[in-house]
Amino acid sequence: MTEDFSRSLERLRRARRVVALTGAGISAESGVPTFRGEGGLWRDYRAEDLATPDAFRRDPELVWEWYDWRRGLIAGCRPNRGHETLALWEGRFESCRVVTQNVDGLHRAAGSRGVICLHGDIWTVRCTGCGFETVDLTAPLPELPPRCRCGGLLRPGVVWFGEALPEKAFEAALEAVSRADVVLVAGTSGLVYPAAGLPAAARSAGTFLVEINLGRTPLSPLMDAILEGPSGQVLAELHDALET
Ligand code: NAD
Repeated sequence: MTEDFSRSLERLRRARRVVALTGAGISAESGVPTFRGEGGLWRDYRAEDLATPDAFRRDPELVWEWYDWRRGLIAGCRPNRGHETLALWEGRFESCRVVTQNVDGLHRAAGSRGVICLHGDIWTVRCTGCGFETVDLTAPLPELPPRCRCGGLLRPGVVWFGEALPEKAFEAALEAVSRADVVLVAGTSGLVYPAAGLPAAARSAGTFLVEINLGRTPLSPLMDAILEGPSGQVLAELHDALET
């Protein structure tokens, strides 16, 4: 057991409110590719070139092909021990809130309630014409790009690079991290703002910050403890240690 692990454990034992700030890395052990790292490319395109309003305006069919591929892939994935541990911890702590940048729905599938989704949900579609929004779990979609009943073009209900985050979700996230005793920052590269600014906000509020990642990130210098390793494994180890 490393010193950082023991200190994190000790903080968790005393914590009443815990927040997990999660990114693509927490779903990697479920088989969902991250944006940065192995398997991050799709047909030679980088995510940053597809997940933008400009890319959609230029070529909605190409962007939808990518989302359709990702939806199909995620449909075959199950939550891993990381998602499961956080869902279990809702019963262990006074509160255990998940704030996620992920759009895959795996926290919800694991049983976490009240997940704050900063970047939307890949299963939601929204009409660019009339604004109608609905959940559509069909994968693959029968027609690309999909159309609304009004004839307008549907878009994925996710937040693209360069778009504003849903205001209420971001405010709720800020409040949650500022009130938490411990914030676990799991599987995020810390490069995508404003989500990557939440650990600094937690730090100003005096929260104990723990990073769980395969390697170091630009957020690492802010951390009180760093637990290196796959997040599913590390979270399960923390859980087991808390139980003994
Ligand atoms: P990212 O792809 O930029 O970075 C992934 C991070 O996870 C890296 O720091 C990497 O070291 C780490 N990582 C990889 N495997 C890990 C593991 N098993 N355990 C712990 N850490 C691991 O992801 P990001 O920081 O979340 O930001 C990119 C954007 O991509 C976000 O907006 C997010 O919405 C979106 N995204 C979401 C999904 C998803 O919903 N599953 C997948 C890819 C990208």
